[in-house]
Amino acid sequence: MLSSLLSPKTCADCRMCCSFEAYHVMDTPVFTADMKERISALSPDAVFIPKAHGFIFRPDKFDAEHMFTCPALTDSGCLFGKNKPFECSIWPFLIMDVNGRRAVTISPLCTELFSRPLSELVSFLRGGLAGSIFAYADAHPDSVRPYYPNCPVLIFENRE
Ligand code: SF4
Repeated sequence: MLSSLLSPKTCADCRMCCSFEAYHVMDTPVFTADMKERISALSPDAVFIPKAHGFIFRPDKFDAEHMFTCPALTDSGCLFGKNKPFECSIWPFLIMDVNGRRAVTISPLCTELFSRPLSELVSFLRGGLAGSIFAYADAHPDSVRPYYPNCPVLIFENRE
């Protein structure tokens, strides 16, 4: 979804979004039952926890910096290619509840997009992605995270 903003090479060289801090377990992607089966075939030791509209993985191996890696990450990139979980396909954009209003924010962890002009990011979201994100949130309310103050708001939802 972000291919016109982020080149595949930029993401392949980084992979930051496929590792998670120990206290951000609930921010990991949500997999469908089919995705869970594909990951289990690749990583038989992977353990999953049911979440509202699918499954998240249970982290069990942390590195020295208390980070854990998604079991769908392979040597050649994400197991799901262009068909990633929705949360992954829009990252570093996030949907958050900001004082009762839904908004699309951006994670500072993606230094590539975080360094772009705000106008470029907002224009891209207004081109259609923001609508897709809010529609996804309508169907999956559990995907809306509490607001993190370090994630700037790019667009508030317009419900009028
Ligand atoms: S599902 Fe794919 S893109 Fe998402 S965190 Fe796992 S490896 Fe990364």
